[in-house]
Amino acid sequence: MFEIELGLIGNKKTFKFDLPHSGKKIGVMVSGGLDSAALYYLIKKFNIDNNKQNEIIPIIILREEGSKTHALNVVNYVDNIVNQTSSSIKQFDFNKQVQPHLEVILATNLSIRQFDNLYIGVIQTRPEHAIGITVYKPKETDKLTYPFADLDKSHIVDLISKLHQTKLFGLTISCDKGIDCKTCNGCRERAWGFDTMKIKYYKI
Ligand SMILES: [Zn+2]
Repeated sequence: MFEIELGLIGNKKTFKFDLPHSGKKIGVMVSGGLDSAALYYLIKKFNIDNNKQNEIIPIIILREEGSKTHALNVVNYVDNIVNQTSSSIKQFDFNKQVQPHLEVILATNLSIRQFDNLYIGVIQTRPEHAIGITVYKPKETDKLTYPFADLDKSHIVDLISKLHQTKLFGLTISCDKGIDCKTCNGCRERAWGFDTMKIKYYKI
């Protein structure tokens, strides 16, 4: 069991994380954003360090322009530092037809049968960062796991810092439009996370 204290006074969370014992086929959603990057690193590293011997397969949702590059960069970076290349990468492209939270649901439904477990890095979204969108409400099942469901963006920024993986800040993008616009929900939430933790804001 991995356990760590995250966040500042007034908003502290004890984050606990574990993986199945061994030999499972585990899918991890990697979007090119900060949360899924933290989750992918955590799962790969924990699996190896604890000799769990699960097969970890990244699932990439190709979002707006640029996200393909970011998601693949995250996968390549993490695979390189844990010294374990992914045997395969599953990719979805919904061609901007659906909102991001629906993309996650679609990708989940389309890939769930192929995995023993599916991990998704959905975090708690504050109302001011969910203007005009429906917030994705995670529902855990025996197959679906949302380890970050109780964490907000400041906790994710803190987690990445404490895991000494700040390079992921520069490898990821949180913009809903894929351009680091600084005004969309994703950009404002990312900036809030860094500001809250008093960490210099890392743009894409
Ligand atoms: Zn933006």
